[in-house]
Amino acid sequence: MRRVLRTCPLCEATCGLALTLDGDDVVRVEGDPDDPLSRGFLCPKGATIGALHADPDRLRAPLVRRGDALVECTWDEAFAAVAEGLERVVAAHGKESVGVYLGNPNVHTLAGPFYVPAFVRALGTGHVFSASTVDQMPQHLASGLMFGHPDRIPVPDLDRTDWLLMLGANPVESNGSLCTAPDFPGRLKALRARGGRLIVVDPRRTRTADLADEHLAIRPGTDALLLWAMVQVLFAEDRVDLRDLAPHVEGVEALRDLAAPFTPETVAGHCRVPAEVIRELARGLAAAERGCVYARIGAHTTAFGTLAAWAVGALNVLTGNLDRPGGSMFPRSALGRPHPGGRGRGFAVGRWRSRVSGRPEVRGEVPSAVLAEEMSTPGPGQLRALFTIAGNPARSLPDSAGLERALGGLDLLVCVDPYLNETTRLADVVLPPPGPLARAHYDVAFGNLMVRNVARYTPPTLAADGPDECDIVARLTLIASGAGAQGDPAWVTMGVLGHLAKGAAAAGAASEAELLAASAGESGPEAILDLLLRTGPYPGLSLDALRAAPSGVDLGPLQPCVPDVLSTPSGRIELAPASIVDDVPRLAALLDDAPVEGLLLVGRRHLRSNNSWGHNVPRMAGGTNRCTLQMHPDDAAARGLRDGDVVAIASRVGRVEAPLEVTDRIAAGVVSLPHGWGHDAPGARLRVAAKAPGVNSNLLTDGAVTDPLSGNAGLNGIPVEVAASV
Ligand code: SF4
Repeated sequence: MRRVLRTCPLCEATCGLALTLDGDDVVRVEGDPDDPLSRGFLCPKGATIGALHADPDRLRAPLVRRGDALVECTWDEAFAAVAEGLERVVAAHGKESVGVYLGNPNVHTLAGPFYVPAFVRALGTGHVFSASTVDQMPQHLASGLMFGHPDRIPVPDLDRTDWLLMLGANPVESNGSLCTAPDFPGRLKALRARGGRLIVVDPRRTRTADLADEHLAIRPGTDALLLWAMVQVLFAEDRVDLRDLAPHVEGVEALRDLAAPFTPETVAGHCRVPAEVIRELARGLAAAERGCVYARIGAHTTAFGTLAAWAVGALNVLTGNLDRPGGSMFPRSALGRPHPGGRGRGFAVGRWRSRVSGRPEVRGEVPSAVLAEEMSTPGPGQLRALFTIAGNPARSLPDSAGLERALGGLDLLVCVDPYLNETTRLADVVLPPPGPLARAHYDVAFGNLMVRNVARYTPPTLAADGPDECDIVARLTLIASGAGAQGDPAWVTMGVLGHLAKGAAAAGAASEAELLAASAGESGPEAILDLLLRTGPYPGLSLDALRAAPSGVDLGPLQPCVPDVLSTPSGRIELAPASIVDDVPRLAALLDDAPVEGLLLVGRRHLRSNNSWGHNVPRMAGGTNRCTLQMHPDDAAARGLRDGDVVAIASRVGRVEAPLEVTDRIAAGVVSLPHGWGHDAPGARLRVAAKAPGVNSNLLTDGAVTDPLSGNAGLNGIPVEVAASV
């Protein structure tokens, strides 16, 4: 028996785990009480990490297509097949005929941040897609325009705030998103226990709403209207108070003019939130000594996602709560460079456009909602080959019937993935990385989103049954670079290290040679991590320092960092840049129309589920983790439907059937179907998930509905009709 500590890689909360192992078998999973961020918290998903690693359906060897079948092969054979296939497609159709899709788990690995960027550069294509455009791209764009960098995302200072308005977020079940806060439920309870106030805006009475002082069941897709009305109230009632931010803000008067049409009375009917309640929200925020507004998926995944994210930032700025303890603050990653401060180049978008519908690039990628049309529309630049890394676009992207057909028609599909799932079953080559316990771990992305600054490194707990994911992606990089299938992954590591050392030396850290020498004892991703720690903002940190503190190093509460964190063209927080000014009339035009009637479909999260993965672990299946259509009793009665009936749900683009769950926990006029289901595709090998496959909600979502600024898919607020199945 041995006890090891490691960070849970399964969700954004990044909890510290204490595992008890008997040989290679995990016999107990507990929360690590000494973890400075999670303090012993553990959720049901984290408790299954041993079962996930041991899952017999997890692939242990690569697969290559022989005729209609995917068969096991050696790693050399798999990489040779990739090299041959890529060479063939590029020779016939050019580099633009190759694309890449990056799934959500890329932010939970070292391969994602350290090696995937080099691979994408080596492909030399503008066909870059990711889960960001079905999730959080509106927030990246809002941060880029407001603060100058898309990854400077302020988070609620949860442990110190006394007033929190939360829209479209259900962290009690999702465990948090764009806000890394283990034990979110405990932190929200603590907020209320110290006399604070929590208001949750969501069309469903979620478990998060159960913890709130007030729950407002908003009409889906109207969060932006409610938020802009709050901005209007702040101006109309002379409640704007920038406090310490006053010297650092640009565009306040222009924002006043933009918000003027959005009076509480004009938006109330659309939002189904009374005007006086909206006024009280604005007054409450303005009066709070330490207040904060936070919005996520439900507010972002609509046609007005960026304007919703924008208004959240604006409300925090206008009340002086941005960059203030207890407000909305910027984390300081241990891997970050010193903030430049002053004027910067700002954030450029639209450096290229998608081929078919001309959608602008944002943050180096084009919208995933256009992936299907890029594959299926003939012409120069048509996508003929696709690499997916840790993604399941056949279940994660809108209009997935068309997407699945297009995936099946590619000349080459290469998937880096540990499962034969609904996407990888269509692949020509599948390259499985080791299980979650056989990887080193550091939260590169989430260091920028933590509600308290910490740094934690985990070495692999168990031996890998194949090459590390970093090596897999490095070998793909070498193939895409023309170095062939037999290249040494260490060449890619050296390239990444050289690039980072050059940048750090230019910033004055030390000479390139000195920096590289300091990390010379490390190899692979650990060498990259060590160099970043040594050149980060916390003196004395290194990989060895983290090894000596397996529960993690506490770097303290969040600290104010404006203006240093800014890199906008003005050197200030910009409240009214041109692209926002130009888009607001689209939102205002909604006010000219009557509020939408009919049923609107929203998604939902389960505590024991995580997008399309996790359904194959027996302990995660069943219970409350069910793929049902939730409907209010009044809507069910109006249609003659009863709990347990199988109903047909139809949208503009598709139709599915699901069991009905009649519940007053969802607002009238709204229905909810969870996403990530539909595990009945032939050829997939998810034997536990297939026993209760559920239905794929993305057969109903409409790829034509996107937020035009960010390209984010509009997955929530889809008009549907529901009737008894015949
Ligand atoms: S909340 Fe997330 S990080 Fe924490 S144990 Fe659960 S799955 Fe793991």
